[in-house]
Amino acid sequence: MIRTGTANRKGTQRSARAVYRIWQRRGIMVRPEPREGLVKVYLETMGCQMNRLDSELVAGALRAAGHELVDSPARAEVLLYNTCSVRHHAEQKAHSRLADQCRRKAASKRRMIIGVLGCMAQREGQALLERYPQLDIVCGPGQLQALAGLITNIADGLREQAAVLDQPRGLRTRCDEEPFDEMDLARDPALTTGPVQAFVRVGRGCDRFCAYCVVPYVRGMQLNRDPARIVEEVRRLVDAGRTEITLLGQTVSAYRWRSGTLTVRFADLLERVSGVAGLRRLRFITSHPADFGLEVLEAMAGLPNVCPYLHLPAQSGSDAVLKRMRRGYTRAQYDELVERAGTIVPGIVLAGDFIVGFPGETEEDHQASADLIRRSGYKNSFIFRYSPRPGTAAAEKLADDVPREVKRRRNSELLAVQAEVGLAHHRRYVGKTVEVLVEGPSPQAGKRKSAGPDTLQLVGRTVGNHIVVFDGRAELAGRYVQVEVVAATPLTLIGSLAASPQQRNRGVAGNEKG
Ligand code: SAM
Ligand code: SF4
Repeated sequence: MIRTGTANRKGTQRSARAVYRIWQRRGIMVRPEPREGLVKVYLETMGCQMNRLDSELVAGALRAAGHELVDSPARAEVLLYNTCSVRHHAEQKAHSRLADQCRRKAASKRRMIIGVLGCMAQREGQALLERYPQLDIVCGPGQLQALAGLITNIADGLREQAAVLDQPRGLRTRCDEEPFDEMDLARDPALTTGPVQAFVRVGRGCDRFCAYCVVPYVRGMQLNRDPARIVEEVRRLVDAGRTEITLLGQTVSAYRWRSGTLTVRFADLLERVSGVAGLRRLRFITSHPADFGLEVLEAMAGLPNVCPYLHLPAQSGSDAVLKRMRRGYTRAQYDELVERAGTIVPGIVLAGDFIVGFPGETEEDHQASADLIRRSGYKNSFIFRYSPRPGTAAAEKLADDVPREVKRRRNSELLAVQAEVGLAHHRRYVGKTVEVLVEGPSPQAGKRKSAGPDTLQLVGRTVGNHIVVFDGRAELAGRYVQVEVVAATPLTLIGSLAASPQQRNRGVAGNEKG
C-alpha cells in the first residue's frame, strides 16, 4: 500500500508525510517509498530462530517498500544488525560490527543509515545512540513494524536519530494484547528459511523469568497470537509452496488463547495447523519442561504430519541448580517427561540445552548433567557456558563463582558425553532408509570431490530433524527424497539416494516431488 497524500475532513490536502505519521501513531503498517540513493539494504542476523524470523519479516517489509536487499555491507546504503543479548559474547560481536561500520561511515562522504534491531537494541536502548554518534536507528524486537518508516524519516532529514523501544516490562499489561502480528500476515512468502520451509511464530516474549535469562526483559511478557491468524498465515505459506512449517515460541508449549469460554491450548493449535491441506511436516520449538502437557505428546502421536522431534531444554541435571535457575521442575519430573515422551510417541527424537558453570555448580551437579545427557539419549544438545546478563536475578544475586577454565572444561566434557550419545543415537539409523527434505548443497559441497558430473554433496533433514548428507543433483533442493543411511557421526547421517517404488518403475532415483 503506497499512498502519497489524502484530504482531511476540512478538504485540505495533507502531505504524504503527515498522513504517514498519523498512520504510524495508530500503529497502521504503511509502505513508505525509499528515498533515492538509500535503496540498498544489508541486513545481518545474529542469534536464535526468532531473530531469523524477525529478519525475514523485516526483509519482506523493506522489499515491499522498494528497498533492495544486498549481501555485502560494502554495497549497501542502509546497514541493519538484528542482534542477540542472550550471552555476552553475542553482544560483543554486535558491538564489533557497529564500531567498524560507524568508523567507516565517519570516514566516508557517502550517505549511510546504520540501525541496530532486536534484543540488544531493546536492552541498551538510547545508550547505543550515545555511544555511537553515527548510529541512526535503535529498534527493539517489538517495534519492527516501524522500521521502514524510520528509515524514510531519517533519509528525509525529518529525524536525526531514533530509538523505538517497547515499554519497560513493568508497565506492560495483558491489555497490550492487541494484534502485534500485522507483519506476519503481510509477509513475503518468498522470504523464508529454506526452499520449502518457513518459521511461523505463535506469539512473542516469555513470562518464565529463569534466573539467568534476559529474554523476558528484552522481548517482554508472553503474548499469544489468535489461532485463526496463525492458521491463515500457514495456509498462505503452504499455498505459496512451503510444505514444512516450524511453529516458534520461547516457550511454545505454554501457548494459550482464550476467547469467551473457549481456550485453545498448544495441542489444539497443533491440531488446527496440522489440518492445513498440503502441509507435509509440522515442527515446533522450544518447549519448556514445566508447562509441557501430555496432551501435546498425544497430539504428536495422533497427527501424522507433526514431526516426532522435541527440543526440551533441561539446562541442568541437578535439582539444586535447577532450583537456583528457577526452572520450575525437578530432575525426576524431567526424567519422567522424557520417559512418557518415549512411550506416547515411539521413536521420538529429543534435543537438549545445557548451561555449564551456573553460580554454585559443583562437580557433582556437573556429573548430574552428564548423567542426564546419557539417560535422555539426545540426538544433539546445545551446551553453553553461563554468561551473567545484567538485570537478571542470577546476575544481581548470585556470584559468578565458577572459574572460566572450569566452565571451559565442563563445557568440553559435556560436549564429549553428548558426542558419544549422539553417535550411538545416529548409528541406530544405519542400514535404514529415511525420508529427507533436501535443503540444498551442504557446507562441504564446494570442498569435496564430486561423485559425478552433475552431483554435489546435499544436505537435508529427516522428520526427526536428523541432518543427512548424500550426493545428488542441486535441483533436488526443496524435494523429499528417500536416502539409505550408510554411516553415522555424532551429528550427522551419511547416506545415498534410494529409489522410491515409483522411481524404480521410472528408472530414476531420489527425485520424488514433495
Ligand atoms: N526458551 C527456551 C528454554 O527455556 O529452554 C530457551 C531460550 S534461550 C534464548 C536459548 C538457550 O540459551 C537457553 O536454553 C539456555 O541454554 C541458553 N542461555 C540463556 N541464557 C543464558 C545465559 N545467561 N548464559 C548461558 N546460556 C544461556
Ligand atoms: Fe529464557 Fe527461561 Fe523464558 Fe527460556 S523459558 S526464554 S530460558 S526465561
